Amino acid sequence: MNVAIVGAGIGGLTLGLMLQRAGIAARVFEASPEVRPLGVGINVLPHASRELGRLGLEAELTRHAVLTREAAFFNRFGQLIYREPLGRDAGYEAPQYSIHRGDLQRVLLDAFAQRAGAQCLQTGWRCTGFTQDAGSVELAFVDARSGARLPSQRADLAIACDGLHSAIRKQLHPAEGEPRYSGVNMWRGVTRWKPFLGGATMVRAGWLTHGKMVIYPIRDAIDDAGNQLVNWVAEIQTPQHRQRDWTRPGELNDFIGAFADWHFDWLDVPAMIRAADSILEFPMVDQDPLPWWTQGRVTLLGDAAHPMVPRGSNGAGQAILDARCLADLLGAGGDPVAALAAYEARRLAATTQVVLTNRSNPPDAIIREVWQRSGDKPFERIEDVISHEELARMSERYKQVAGFDRNTLDRPATS
Ligand SMILES: Cc1cc2nc3c(=O)[nH]c(=O)nc-3n(C[C@H](O)[C@H](O)[C@H](O)COP(=O)(O)OP(=O)(O)OC[C@H]3O[C@@H](n4cnc5c(N)ncnc54)[C@H](O)[C@@H]3O)c2cc1C
Repeated sequence: MNVAIVGAGIGGLTLGLMLQRAGIAARVFEASPEVRPLGVGINVLPHASRELGRLGLEAELTRHAVLTREAAFFNRFGQLIYREPLGRDAGYEAPQYSIHRGDLQRVLLDAFAQRAGAQCLQTGWRCTGFTQDAGSVELAFVDARSGARLPSQRADLAIACDGLHSAIRKQLHPAEGEPRYSGVNMWRGVTRWKPFLGGATMVRAGWLTHGKMVIYPIRDAIDDAGNQLVNWVAEIQTPQHRQRDWTRPGELNDFIGAFADWHFDWLDVPAMIRAADSILEFPMVDQDPLPWWTQGRVTLLGDAAHPMVPRGSNGAGQAILDARCLADLLGAGGDPVAALAAYEARRLAATTQVVLTNRSNPPDAIIREVWQRSGDKPFERIEDVISHEELARMSERYKQVAGFDRNTLDRPATS
């Protein structure tokens, strides 16, 4: 069998590695002429990091990532609402990685090139669509730089891992509407900063009406002063937003005002933002879950299949879980077309639930609840507002939906 993977992002490369492990020939076609470290921070939670560990990548990822140990939630006055351990500190066998997206992609890419052979990865090949018949699928490509047509490529199966702007999704669902704007715009960046709260804490603070921040370190000891690379995301409710583009630069003055007085004893937030290497802007958008992903020998995976708002640290994770499911089904032998249908049957409903829960009750629902109950005022004691048990239950519910609660993960693996 010969599988064509469109897109060398997190999902496509993970699938390539998993198919290689299963002895299935896979070629990856990537539009970018060179894979550069684009993006900022990303989290890989234990349900997905254990899959990367099974691919033998734990040591390499540990070298690049911060192994996140704790989640902490604050109101906009810097008062602690709730904290809980994460990753191995929470008893999972696998860690939580907070990592630069470029580092994660590079680790996957190097492993794929080494194991499958560099000739199995074509860069600068932009897929423009497909045709198929009963026996195979043919992918059409143009040169990403010149736009010139490249030779079509035939394969037994084509897996579209081409992300948010998936050309194959558009071909499968041409009448799909525009992305759905959540009403929240985001500004993202990275700053070289000294470790805060122990150096391995993922912070969520404030609320979207006034401004919310997500802050976590993604690289350790980046210089002799012991600084870390710290990823931050500012999220503010506003009707103003522009089209989604991972590389759109953002303007400090468009959002810094919301955080001007966030001088907490654990972090001076505006100072950290002002010291950023660069700022990107991105609207918080997703798309309504699709009714189907698969047509014969072609299917969708990762963001191409189920773009979600980034509020549960699950975009990369669900792409990795998709890859595992598909690689297992193809690795079991049998009819590959039936395997694609079975993959969709297993993963579409599961990821739809994550997409919808990210809209309504993501992990930061904890701070929304306290914001509502406290009337957005400082509190004397958090216990007067909400009990620790209730907060813990809210956190647990999201883990169950996304498939990383301890009970689900501690079940024996399916293969
Ligand atoms: C440049 C960039 C920056 C990002 N930055 C962040 C970030 O900072 N934080 C975060 O949480 N998430 C970020 N993401 C998204 C994140 O990687 C995904 O949400 C998640 O990891 C799921 O991965 P995926 O493989 O489905 O999609 P992606 O990781 O987006 O990968 C899709 C890949 O397909 C390629 N591609 C697109 N169209 C075509 C085509 N027609 N033919 C061939 N190849 C094509 C893209 O170049 C890309 O390499 C970024 C994605 C990109 C592409």
